[in-house]
Amino acid sequence: MNDNAIFVQIKYFSGIKFFKFCFFMRSYILAENNWHNLKDSKPDLAILPWGATEAHNYHLPYSTDNIEAEEIVYRSAEIAFKRGAKLIVLPTIPFGVNTGQTDILLNINLNPSTQLSILKDVIQVLDRQGIQRFLIFNSHGGNDFKPLLRELGLQFPKMFLSVADFYKVLDKRDYFDIDGDHADEMETSLMLHLRPDLVLDKKYWGKGKEKKINLKYFDENWLWTERKWSKVTSDTGIGNPEFATREKGEKYFLDLTEKVGDMFYELCKTDMGYL
Ligand SMILES: [Zn+2]
Repeated sequence: MNDNAIFVQIKYFSGIKFFKFCFFMRSYILAENNWHNLKDSKPDLAILPWGATEAHNYHLPYSTDNIEAEEIVYRSAEIAFKRGAKLIVLPTIPFGVNTGQTDILLNINLNPSTQLSILKDVIQVLDRQGIQRFLIFNSHGGNDFKPLLRELGLQFPKMFLSVADFYKVLDKRDYFDIDGDHADEMETSLMLHLRPDLVLDKKYWGKGKEKKINLKYFDENWLWTERKWSKVTSDTGIGNPEFATREKGEKYFLDLTEKVGDMFYELCKTDMGYL
């Protein structure tokens, strides 16, 4: 679980000049790690970023949720790792529950029952190898892991199973002017900070206007039905991105990863009592 320096030399046939440079493998990221480095170590905590592949208004990429989950987890894991936490980030699951968006082109749906199967297989490996602390880091509102973790907790009683939704970590009203929940000011700002090369010019940004069912109990948040996406929004967005800026995204990202990094560290170090 150490940072490994990898040195690369480029020699020219002339023998006169050569370049030598190095980069650091991030050993808390499984996809960058290797058997040589990992075989004698055992992390305390495994983190699984989980996103979705779906349209985000006209202007953000289909991979928005995956980029958000991955970048937040990588930065937060680095913070915890540098404080001495032993943790490993598993590869991101790129598909989420999109059952309400079947008629939006190439929105890929993974049913909750499929998610349960994936989780069972991943957790079985961790359980067998004694990596008992597990966290799903979720970036997609359609994913609901609580009932799945309840069921898996019965099957794997030695495992500590947990889930965090990144968009609930901070109060968005402290950072953004207009609230929303999909391709909104927050997500657009975040993507302008993380991957500005994948954000279309502002002239393409839709208004993200949501059409609601005219029944007050939905607004009181105790009556729920799944939204049929193409009926509630014309541009696939919910929440106006108009006032999004890179600066807002950067500030939100820094505060968010500091808090999440602290949570990762505490999850590794805290005595859970029954583990
Ligand atoms: Zn999103």
